[in-house]
Amino acid sequence: MIKVGMISMVLGMLKRSDNIELVNTIEESDVVIINTCGFIEASKQESIENILDVVSQNKKVIAIGCLLERYLDELKSSIPEVALWVKIKDYSTLNEKIEELFNKEVKIEKINPFVRLLATPPYMAYLRISEGCNNCCTYCAIPLIRGKFRSRSKEDILKEAHLLAASNIKELVIISQDTTRYGSDLSNGENIVDLLSTLLEIKEFTSIRLLYLYPDEITDDLIDLIAKNPVISPYFDIPFQHSSNPILKAMNRRGTREEYEALIDKIRTKIPHAILRTTYIVGFPGETDDDFVNLVDFTRKMKFDHMGAFKYSREDGTKAYDMPNQIPEPLKAGRLNKIMDVQKKISYEKNKEHIGEVMEGIVIGYNDKALQYSLRSYWNAPDDIDGNIFFKSDHELKIGEDVKVKITSAFIYDLYGELVE
Ligand code: SF4
Repeated sequence: MIKVGMISMVLGMLKRSDNIELVNTIEESDVVIINTCGFIEASKQESIENILDVVSQNKKVIAIGCLLERYLDELKSSIPEVALWVKIKDYSTLNEKIEELFNKEVKIEKINPFVRLLATPPYMAYLRISEGCNNCCTYCAIPLIRGKFRSRSKEDILKEAHLLAASNIKELVIISQDTTRYGSDLSNGENIVDLLSTLLEIKEFTSIRLLYLYPDEITDDLIDLIAKNPVISPYFDIPFQHSSNPILKAMNRRGTREEYEALIDKIRTKIPHAILRTTYIVGFPGETDDDFVNLVDFTRKMKFDHMGAFKYSREDGTKAYDMPNQIPEPLKAGRLNKIMDVQKKISYEKNKEHIGEVMEGIVIGYNDKALQYSLRSYWNAPDDIDGNIFFKSDHELKIGEDVKVKITSAFIYDLYGELVE
């Protein structure tokens, strides 16, 4: 029996082998599969540190994932202890490569996208609807790593969605690099609105949330569909990245500040309780003080419910890498702190607007020190990107249970409430 420790979609393939036992800790493992990320400098460093850490514990390491797409040769020569490197395009033969690594002592079937062992909590799942990206934002390495935009067929997506529903998934989170572009490359005229309309027929899902909406692809039809269907969270995750038009142009982002403001106004007019989330990049090459002031002004004016910001990361192979007027790190850090400070006050004001509201959602956790539960509602996306809703209950609740919570107080990033019977 070979013990394997890892977290990734590949678990579904491994769990079908009789000779493999999946374990939760590195200590228990004979072999560890590490799913790397090569998106930005920080994630590259984290992936490399993880590999070095496991190698230093004398475990056999199999490295897979994005980082290899960009740096395989350098990685192979700098960390020769890694037993196997497998690029994304070779996942179809990952089973054979692992069999060879163990001299055919194990028998593993090929990856089957419909057999997944979810690493997410038992009530929720991510559903990927496309792969790759055609947008070519000048700072972004994802098109280099993931290739051109390719929609999954609607049949495949629905097959996977029905399997998830049958395994008690209630909360579906739709992801891709460019969710709103769905179907544009298919010949049958499919689009995100049609796909969502079909997914809404699966009654087991009590919440469907979309992540990564490109501003100019958010149609009136999509906003109207979300407005009319409470199962789709009125949660708009729109990474605007910046608001100053010259920087948007240099980033090769479509749209202007004026168009972004009109879009936000339209969403809030049609769906007054919509939650708007955005992300920014500060310190992009050539970002002047005026550009940054523009971003601060945009943030104060638009009052996003949630905002995340990152310092620009200079990535090999991207157009922005060679742009003049790269911004020094201390200036980037200062701008990041400033914009986060601006957002703190806005978040607090926005959060206070929810006091008195009864939110419906799912119990997602319990803290036995604070004796309080946490809730997922339309207000907060998974993976702690938006803050928490904490509440107390005088009786025991199950994780994944549907509850109603009345919000009683608000803090900068979190909300507090009480269970409504
Ligand atoms: S849309 Fe997103 S994934 Fe695509 S290039 Fe731009 S930042 Fe990268």
